[in-house]
Amino acid sequence: MQVAAERALGAHRVLEPVGVLPQAAWRLDPDPAIGLDEVRIAVERLTLDAASFRQLTEAHDRDGNAVRAEVLAIVRDRGKMQNPVTGSGGMLLGVVDAIGPDSPLGLTVGQRVATLVSLTLTPLRITDDLASWDGRSEQVPAHGTAILFARSIAAALPDDLPDAVSLAVLDVCGAPAATARVVAGSGARSVVVLGAAGKSGCLSLAAARAAGATGLTGVVRTDAEAAALTESGLADRIVVADATDPLAVAAAVGTPAELTVVCVDVPGAEHGAILATADGGTVVFFSMATSFPAAALGAEGMAADVTMLVGNGYTPGHAALALDLYRANPGVRALIDPRLAR
Ligand code: NAP
Repeated sequence: MQVAAERALGAHRVLEPVGVLPQAAWRLDPDPAIGLDEVRIAVERLTLDAASFRQLTEAHDRDGNAVRAEVLAIVRDRGKMQNPVTGSGGMLLGVVDAIGPDSPLGLTVGQRVATLVSLTLTPLRITDDLASWDGRSEQVPAHGTAILFARSIAAALPDDLPDAVSLAVLDVCGAPAATARVVAGSGARSVVVLGAAGKSGCLSLAAARAAGATGLTGVVRTDAEAAALTESGLADRIVVADATDPLAVAAAVGTPAELTVVCVDVPGAEHGAILATADGGTVVFFSMATSFPAAALGAEGMAADVTMLVGNGYTPGHAALALDLYRANPGVRALIDPRLAR
């Protein structure tokens, strides 16, 4: 491959192991000095992927100081924010502060942007010790620098929404995009969403509705979430079940759906999702806590003829779709906004 093409993927920033791309690397070079085709972002805020934040919080017994210390250590050791246990990252927002003359990204210095590529492949240096963060929220006020490559993507932050909202919605914008694509492409009318009252879950319900689905079932874990989801009006039917208990999910869902979208932030939802899906149907595993062997071998063991999709974080138009769903649906706003105040 030509050097320019390798650079566009960020291969030149990989320190170890040599030969992999940045997402798979153990360590990246976060040097803020940019190459001719790179862009430097002055970081203002990170959002940690929900599965990563939950794992860190539980591993440290909800001790925010310990969570902050671990995030700092990960970024210092790896040159990027990639939780070694979950393998997941998050994304960031900030101000474009330097652009190499050969960058094709079309950004301008001073522009406020959210990166639409994962923190797991973004060279990152933190310079404020995360002093403004108490370690208790997914969103992390931060100062430092991040590097975008020629093939990275970033979205200009909308003027009409608070930063925290834009960051939260853009972080999960792949879920509604994938849902809309499957509903539109397959003509699926019945949809089950596991983790339906969460950020990606409620956006997926709204996307399914907008794409033409008519039988929407939201699976939530608690009565409180059931009440909030009922109030939102996003689902036709709401059932309470632990997504990690496959038989409970199957019993609660009843007739399997043509599409199931997995939006929980915990491991172990694969088998329930497969049981909730009709033969010939599709499961979108958006959750970062998904196990490939559990999904593949579980489906085989159940003789389940379902198509299983990895929830690709990127689909063309995904950012605008998700932001528009947030703007257009009071129910989505009612479910997402309180999460940002936590
Ligand atoms: P979120 O807002 O925290 O929503 C997760 C929801 O799942 C919450 O409502 C949570 O309930 C619920 N839940 C947790 N355990 C459950 C269980 N056992 N049974 C039923 N419901 C349960 O998370 P999010 O930001 O939407 O992210 C969802 C998933 O997408 C995460 O795994 C995240 O890592 C992943 N993700 C993927 C991509 C990608 O590109 N594929 C990008 C970003 C995020 P409680 O609030 O009561 O715990």
